[in-house]
Amino acid sequence: MVHIGDVPFGSKGFAVIAGPCSIESREQLEQTAQAVQTAGAHCLRGGAYKPRSSPYSFQGLGREGLEILGAVSASLGIPTVTEIVDVADLDAIAEHADAFQIGARNMQNYTLLNAVGRTQKPTLLKRGPAATLDELLLAAEYVVSSGNPHVILCERGIKTFERATRNTLDLNAVPYLKQRSHLPVIVDPSHGTGIRGLVAPMAKAAVACGADGVMVEVHVDPTRALSDGHQSLFPSQFDELMRSLGPFVEAAGRTL
Ligand code: PEP
Ligand code: MN
Repeated sequence: MVHIGDVPFGSKGFAVIAGPCSIESREQLEQTAQAVQTAGAHCLRGGAYKPRSSPYSFQGLGREGLEILGAVSASLGIPTVTEIVDVADLDAIAEHADAFQIGARNMQNYTLLNAVGRTQKPTLLKRGPAATLDELLLAAEYVVSSGNPHVILCERGIKTFERATRNTLDLNAVPYLKQRSHLPVIVDPSHGTGIRGLVAPMAKAAVACGADGVMVEVHVDPTRALSDGHQSLFPSQFDELMRSLGPFVEAAGRTL
């Protein structure tokens, strides 16, 4: 079992991390965080350092974003996860957030894996878009063998020939990883599909195949989001998802 703040991952409880793709302003994060917390999310996500496909896309607020994340987390009492892309930011992120996220693009950045491995911060490790499950497990080994056992694995979709969705969400990953390792496994149906309308069905599927939680992108106004707006839920949709997830979680013998 791994804890982010006081939230257990890999227990009987099904854990939900929600929040915007990127932290854009204090108001945007505060309003989104309030909405997801009220709907029942356990942890808040939000990127301050954004690895974008294009260098001309919004790259995140950096240090200012971290400070906003820390302040909103403290005022609402909700634990947080945020992406680390550079070892140089490790201490600042550790100061302002409760967990590191290693993004898909950095799954095999061994310097970064070893660096978070030398801390005791929980680390959410996302599967690379072209990484096998065994490569994901070996990436997790880097963190664990460096001294940090607090790793949560995340399936977020892989590149396939299918173009209808942004990625192909490989739910085989969940039972495979659970059978091969003791680490908690969560699913990111937002990046896994890239389509807002597919997020809720795939979150339910994640419960059914044994995931320990989900991470869902939610924005107070997705139409104005600076990143991943098309796959971000409106707060009302997230609220509806949390309500409809209940019976699935119960059927899986877990609690929400
Ligand atoms: C994210 O969580 O916003 C993100 C960039 O995800 P990934 O690394 O899976 O693409
Ligand atoms: Mn995103």
